[in-house]
Amino acid sequence: MHEFSFALDIFKVAEATALKYNAKRITEVLLEIGELTLIVPELLQRSFEMATKGTIAEGARLTITITPGKVKCRDCNKISEVSITREAQLTGLQLFKCSHCDSNNTEIVEGKKANVKNIKIQE
Ligand SMILES: [Zn+2]
Repeated sequence: MHEFSFALDIFKVAEATALKYNAKRITEVLLEIGELTLIVPELLQRSFEMATKGTIAEGARLTITITPGKVKCRDCNKISEVSITREAQLTGLQLFKCSHCDSNNTEIVEGKKANVKNIKIQE
């Protein structure tokens, strides 16, 4: 999976911020992950540990918040909150139904991104 390269990206963002504040250590990274990214938090935790070994973020806690996925219906224009079912996770098939009119004609508008919300540092 793409967890390891993703963990590296998180580290780079956190490191850049920490350097800006002359931090000696990063103690915690707060991360938001969209529900539809298909990132597995447990794998990401482990990858983050590996990616930060020997760096200023070694031993930092990675706190993950999952944000809900949202789709917009092309038929009724309304927004629905969706989540990935076990089945979709296994097959990679992502078909989201509009919860207002039951249409399958939807597009994902939120939940495919991940970003570092905040970091905690030691100066
Ligand atoms: Zn609809």
